[in-house]
Amino acid sequence: MYKMYAGEWAGTMCLTEPNAGSDVGATKTTAKRLPDGKFLITGTKCFISSGDHDLTPNIVHPVLARIEGDPPGTKGISIFIVPKVRVNDDGSLGEANDVNTGGIEHKMGIKGSATATLNFGENGKCIGELLGGEREGMKIMFQMMNEARLGTGMQGLAAASAAYEHAVQYSKERVQGNDIMAGKDPNAKPVTIINHPDIRRKLMWMKSHVEGMRSMCYFVGYCMDKSKVAKTEEEKANWEGFLDLMTTVVKAYCSDKALLVCSTAMDVYGGYGYCSEYPVEQYLRDEKIATIYEGTNGIQSLTLVGRSLGQRKGMNLMNLFGEIQKNIKKMKEQKELGKHTAILEEASNACLELTMFFVQAGKAGNFMLPILNAYKFMEIFGDVLVGHFLIDGAGVAAEKLDAVYKAKKADTAEKQKELNKADIEAAFYSGRVASAKFFAVESLTTVKARCEAIKMDEKSPLEMTEEAFAV
Ligand SMILES: Cc1cc2nc3c(=O)[nH]c(=O)nc-3n(C[C@H](O)[C@H](O)[C@H](O)COP(=O)(O)OP(=O)(O)OC[C@H]3O[C@@H](n4cnc5c(N)ncnc54)[C@H](O)[C@@H]3O)c2cc1C
Repeated sequence: MYKMYAGEWAGTMCLTEPNAGSDVGATKTTAKRLPDGKFLITGTKCFISSGDHDLTPNIVHPVLARIEGDPPGTKGISIFIVPKVRVNDDGSLGEANDVNTGGIEHKMGIKGSATATLNFGENGKCIGELLGGEREGMKIMFQMMNEARLGTGMQGLAAASAAYEHAVQYSKERVQGNDIMAGKDPNAKPVTIINHPDIRRKLMWMKSHVEGMRSMCYFVGYCMDKSKVAKTEEEKANWEGFLDLMTTVVKAYCSDKALLVCSTAMDVYGGYGYCSEYPVEQYLRDEKIATIYEGTNGIQSLTLVGRSLGQRKGMNLMNLFGEIQKNIKKMKEQKELGKHTAILEEASNACLELTMFFVQAGKAGNFMLPILNAYKFMEIFGDVLVGHFLIDGAGVAAEKLDAVYKAKKADTAEKQKELNKADIEAAFYSGRVASAKFFAVESLTTVKARCEAIKMDEKSPLEMTEEAFAV
């Protein structure tokens, strides 16, 4: 194992099969008991990230498989450690373990990762060792899966952040068109595109989402740390509860919004952004997969609505909204952000009310309402969380900004504007306040209407016949 920690050997996660994608329980890979307690593994896994390469002398595959005779579905799945090359008792490498690469998937992005189809036991000689107990495969794999989901959300954040930074830089360099206020003056000097209102709007949309997603990801990291140092079982359960509730949101919301951020960055570049001399086309291609792997965002949303909201009888959700309410109360006192905090309050109340509506719909037998709208709920929930983190952060920024203004004797609006250009701290803090205000008006104002739309229980996607999907 230390060779994996040291990076000497690589590893994978082998869940997906041609007929078992989102439905992992449909796995056909089998494990046959051997007299020495080990297992013979037979089956095909596809889309395996870094499934085969020659960067390391060995690759260790955790493989989901069903021990012969075990029940169908996820409950009957176990997990096995299957090395590409067998390991001798003294730790040295032995013979090949009958793990063969059936092919490499040719992909839109992430070209640095060899995504492979792996055939286990084509020659009946693939040996695996059981990891954990029999039929505990899903529980064990989920330890990796949850971390990978958070990692996928972080992948989104990283791509979005890089795309945004490049777009800002480009917009300060690219000269095109006159200042809108110059009208048709033939003598007006062309300006850099950051001077155009529509470019500013795009940059602000990207900035606010990147900052909000970053805060959300940091909060999840904070929850992990706090759960590890918690002094009581109850405290630990509360921090872990936030994690359980937010993992799918971090995965789905951050990867989806990141894709839009990368696409918007390309729009800022214009045609140059579409060309591979500039970095954003790669970010856009690389980012798309984050919305699909580790469970598609549709499936994440179903998990959020079908499982996470109700965990611990809804206590995780109530605790989280309790924290949001506490911050709202505090932030309402803040003169700079009072109006925007009121928008957050309305959005957060509407979101919480919608969860109650889902419960009532479920009790009344209308399960399809929350199922059909799970993705829309995930977006709303993500917007409320991101809005909350932005406004919370803006509250801190506003206080810091005040202190900078006082220290630098910037006591008029004009002097403050000048300082926001000349002083790096004033620029940063004023930017944080501005992006929180923008997000509140741009995204949070729409939350209540979106919740009301869901409550209208529009079922046309379900009621229409398959045939009517023709254009
Ligand atoms: C580049 C890349 C790397 C990957 N890396 C790995 C890896 O390392 N290990 C690994 O095991 N897998 C990996 N995967 C596989 C990935 O996790 C799956 O592609 C993904 O889970 C979706 O499965 P699928 O492609 O079979 O799509 P399907 O399951 O066929 O889904 C197709 C569509 O139907 C929807 N859908 C399916 N079932 C339902 C349902 N019950 N309710 C609502 N909607 C549903 C899905 O959301 C999706 O939109 C990788 C895939 C790619 C492309």
